[in-house]
Amino acid sequence: MSFLQGKRALIVGLASNRSIAWGIAKAMHREGAQLAFSYQGEKLEGRAKDMGKELGTDAVFECDVADDAAIDKLIADTAKALGGIDILVHSVGFAPREALAGGFTESTTRDAWRIAQDISAYSLVALTRAARPHLAAGGGSVLTLSYLGAVRALPNYNVMGPAKASLESAVRFLAQDLGHEGIRVNAISAGPIKTLAAAGIAGFRKMLEHVAQTAPLGRSVDAGEVGDAAAFLCSDLARGITGETLYVDAGYHTVGMTLPD
Ligand code: NAD
Repeated sequence: MSFLQGKRALIVGLASNRSIAWGIAKAMHREGAQLAFSYQGEKLEGRAKDMGKELGTDAVFECDVADDAAIDKLIADTAKALGGIDILVHSVGFAPREALAGGFTESTTRDAWRIAQDISAYSLVALTRAARPHLAAGGGSVLTLSYLGAVRALPNYNVMGPAKASLESAVRFLAQDLGHEGIRVNAISAGPIKTLAAAGIAGFRKMLEHVAQTAPLGRSVDAGEVGDAAAFLCSDLARGITGETLYVDAGYHTVGMTLPD
């Protein structure tokens, strides 16, 4: 099928082979896209470069999304390595660990709020702005990763909820602003998946169990399923879709009530 043949994709947020970014990378590679990656911090360099090689790319760069100069360099390096950028995947989220446990009211400090909004939401705007000239050249596509905490209250997710609400809102504003340039902007709201970021949320294992019991499909999802949906959304097959948040969560968000057996 190879519906991403000829597309050049920058995937931001690779940390391990459990990362959602890795699931997306594998699906996009399978569908014929040429890939570049970014990772945060020197410690991840070796692993990220090895993972890049696995999918046939040397275009693996370091970038802290809190740093505008680093973002500009990442986009320039990627455009040079791939000859352009058609797809930007933002798979980045962060909040201080102590804010992801206990009651929302007490754990949500001014600092935690600022950091969560900056790294998890604003960085989408900053990356999209930097990549805009490249994306506009060929009718590009931007994709970010959200979670149900954007629209529902949940235990322990705390300050990340408002950050994801802000992220989903930014998707709609970016989509409206950039649509006339042929740039589409969408989000996937993924069900819980065991990754490094998820491990920072208190009670995550119990969340997974609850979803498996409650979701219509009777299970949670994996990064491969998110990857397949991401490949579709960033392809020409989804050319009529923008400003959208697509749930890939085994249907969990559609359920109003279940009854104990
Ligand atoms: P992950 O830990 O593999 O990925 C998170 C990434 O964010 C890492 O690569 C990390 O290096 C990067 N990051 C954090 N701060 C950064 C910074 N300052 N600069 C650059 N990169 C930075 O975990 P994941 O679960 O794959 O998370 C990817 C995205 O998916 C996040 O936005 C997360 O909120 C979202 N998401 C995850 C789940 C889940 O259950 N795992 C569910 C829904 C949405």
